[in-house]
Amino acid sequence: MPKSSLPYLSCFVIIFVISRLMSIISVKHRPWTDLLPCELFSLDIASKLSLNKSSLAIASTDFGNLVHVTPAAVLYPSSIEDIISIVKFSYNHSLPFKVAARGRGHSCRGQAMVENGVVIDMTSLNRFKLKNISYNNNYHQYYDNSRIRVSYDALLGFYADVGGEQLWIDVLHATLDHGVAPVSWTDYLYLTVGGTLSNAGISGQSFRYGPQITNVHELDVVTGKGELITCSKKINSELFNAVLGGLGQFGIITRARIKLKAAPKRVKWVRMLYDNYSTFTRDQEHLISLYGNYQDLIDVNDGLDYVEGSLIMHNVDPNNWRSSFFTPNDQDRIASLNSPNGILYFLEVAKYYYHDDDANDTNIDKEVEKQLKGLNFIPGYIFTQEVSFVEFLNRVRKGELELESKGLWDVPHPWLNMFIPRSQIDDFQYVFANIIAKDSKGLEGPILFYPFNRNKWDDKMSAVTPEEDVFYTLGLLHSSGLDDWDVLEHKNEEIINYCNENGIQIKQYLPRYTTTEEWKTHFGSKWRIFQHRKNLFDPKLILSPGQNIFK
Ligand code: FAD
Repeated sequence: MPKSSLPYLSCFVIIFVISRLMSIISVKHRPWTDLLPCELFSLDIASKLSLNKSSLAIASTDFGNLVHVTPAAVLYPSSIEDIISIVKFSYNHSLPFKVAARGRGHSCRGQAMVENGVVIDMTSLNRFKLKNISYNNNYHQYYDNSRIRVSYDALLGFYADVGGEQLWIDVLHATLDHGVAPVSWTDYLYLTVGGTLSNAGISGQSFRYGPQITNVHELDVVTGKGELITCSKKINSELFNAVLGGLGQFGIITRARIKLKAAPKRVKWVRMLYDNYSTFTRDQEHLISLYGNYQDLIDVNDGLDYVEGSLIMHNVDPNNWRSSFFTPNDQDRIASLNSPNGILYFLEVAKYYYHDDDANDTNIDKEVEKQLKGLNFIPGYIFTQEVSFVEFLNRVRKGELELESKGLWDVPHPWLNMFIPRSQIDDFQYVFANIIAKDSKGLEGPILFYPFNRNKWDDKMSAVTPEEDVFYTLGLLHSSGLDDWDVLEHKNEEIINYCNENGIQIKQYLPRYTTTEEWKTHFGSKWRIFQHRKNLFDPKLILSPGQNIFK
């Protein structure tokens, strides 16, 4: 070798050694797991995939704290393209892996979990900065969010384009900034738009305005083939109807266009107490009946805006985390009541008002009086509060923070939610009197029970309801200790078995079935279309396997 080429050679050796070292270091720092195809880690999104223990731990738990399933990786997307990329990669691979969007992880049965696949942490799409606003003479801090945009259209009126990862509380604040707000809510607002639209999104407004899924104009969805599709009732309606109430099976919602209306300023919030089941249900049905068939005749200012109901066992505090409504004096009066079966019933209503001048306030009182006229609650047991619209909608937050500060929020939650046809409500009374009230230990959590008008739902959508004009929702929102949740779970099973054995045609809400047979029964006549849509939009069964529908 000529002496003159020595410097070149040593230069080459040094560069080679450095580049080897760099590639060893970068491989060491690149995520890696043999549960996923190695090519995945050469894509641009590799740097947004985490295999780190704490990420996997978060993605393998949820609000229910009962099911724990570990994914291979968690994707923290910073754009919709990242979501498209991961789903498309899986779809095109010879061995597709499962993928689930995780909103706030507030499911109770592992619905957003994926064994050995990829969980997409949707909230990482959130980009915002803290902002102060003054609304209704109060100062609020909220996140000025580029993924919540309010617009107006002559045909649609006001609407908001909202990222699927957005929390409803942020949607509320951002829309109020424009004097408008969505009309249909859930009781608790720290849930994502994609998460509630995958179920239905129900609350006391649903009897009048329908569930959240019927208040959506348009969606952007990443299907199980990795295609980004805009859909509505008019374009790609099959996908639109599939995704709403579709339990995450057909696509990942990346944008929803939500209907908005003028935002109320304040709320008259009333609770009435009953000791008789039949009177309680009759009065609830009377209140929602106005919106059954003739709702178009009703002016926006007429009627009630919210109707819910709940049960408490005798000697259980009527205040709970869902809302603390009663003063100590009210609590004493309620505790002194006796009731058959040891059960008391609360009918809960709200009336919004849009002006804060006194004249209108009197009108509101008159309207509430008119609506409640003829109701048969226990005389004298009517309780009223007047609160701001935000306080009303965000009523659960206070209870959450209190429980959280005592370490009681992250406990197991063996919840059971279901719909019951109106015609079987009398038979269902057995469940309250003989299953729930019998040994009510641990039943301090809220027990919700109130009716809906089915004409406010859309049967083309995937959400399943009983096939009757009016049906009730029951929500047993239990909390338990770490090692005694199975007592409550047995009670849930007893209720389901009783209904099955006695022909009560319940439909679970936030369903938690594990076998295909159970899912077929759940969907009933909708099963074929549900399967057909799965075949169209997620033929390789990639999405949301934690629902246990398609194996
Ligand atoms: P996650 O638990 O993260 O996901 C739920 C399912 O939706 C999963 O299958 C997931 O893969 C899928 N998913 C998540 N994001 C998307 C997306 N962008 N696109 C497609 N699929 C997606 N429900 C009501 O209707 N009314 C109530 O009043 C109500 N109150 C509640 C109160 C509390 C305290 C809790 C914990 C829950 C309540 N729920 C209520 C239930 C709640 O609506 C559902 O559990 C909802 O799915 C939770 O939303 P999330 O963002 O946490 O979804």
